[in-house]
Amino acid sequence: MRLKVWGARGSIPAPGPETMRYGGNTSCVEVTLSDNSTLILDAGTGIRHLGMAMKQDRSEAAVAHPVNILLTHLHMDHIQGFMFFPPMFEAGSEIVVWGPASPEASLRDRIARYISAPLAPVEVRELPSRLTFHETDAQEWQIGPARIRAQAVNHRGPTLGYRIEDNGTVLCYIPDHEPGLGAPLASIEDEWISGFDLAHGADLLIHDCQYTDSEYDHHLGWGHSPVSDALEFARRTGPARVLLFHHDPLHSDDFLDRLDTELAERWAQLGGPAGCVSLATERLELELTRDRVQRPAEAAPPPAPPLRSPA
Ligand SMILES: [Zn+2]
Ligand SMILES: [Zn+2]
Repeated sequence: MRLKVWGARGSIPAPGPETMRYGGNTSCVEVTLSDNSTLILDAGTGIRHLGMAMKQDRSEAAVAHPVNILLTHLHMDHIQGFMFFPPMFEAGSEIVVWGPASPEASLRDRIARYISAPLAPVEVRELPSRLTFHETDAQEWQIGPARIRAQAVNHRGPTLGYRIEDNGTVLCYIPDHEPGLGAPLASIEDEWISGFDLAHGADLLIHDCQYTDSEYDHHLGWGHSPVSDALEFARRTGPARVLLFHHDPLHSDDFLDRLDTELAERWAQLGGPAGCVSLATERLELELTRDRVQRPAEAAPPPAPPLRSPA
């Protein structure tokens, strides 16, 4: 399994010179499965660049497969890129959208609230691609070579986390999550921790870390994790590697550099192995193999600038 981060920002796109390194696009991760098919996690604004890259690079083998998009939920930062995803406007492309059920309306009708007037110049029914929608409450199913498990997690509104297993490797994706809401994560039983089964023993966990602990005091119940809960969730669930995700739009690159240093120190204090927790950056590529998670040598980005000490 290979993956590439196309958007790691939370809440609202945050473009600008102060967010160039970690990126300003909202949630979107491309996963390439062992049969070379593409699975997309969320359709935030990052999916626009992914769609453009797919147009240029898709091999014949990849084009033969439908594009599957797994939506964790329908907050704007996770669907905003849909309207600008080039395959949606190609007559030959087949797109399958999976997402949480809601008693309010079907998945298609809820997405159509955005892809319709007055917010959009087209309606879902006018899109030329072959588009289908599936509601996926807690269940397991197969997409190509991958076993997918979805489960409801603590956030505002119906929200899923995903566990994706392909060829012996496991990726867990929970970008919007407040597992510590009303629950002391360090001491409660495993079964009472939201998302525990999804993340347990994964090779890679991609998880919410929107707030510092002091910011969280003012955002309790907003559906996101402070640093302490993101790290404690990782300690309890034991993934081999953790990418912390959904960066607050107010957090600049310099701020996130300091946070990254603080995370490493606090992870060490929790007894975690060095180098396995880091902040996600836009365009980061990783390869998950049975015994390790690594950057593909040919795709390694330029070396990161030195981290600054916390102020
Ligand atoms: Zn979000
Ligand atoms: Zn959300």
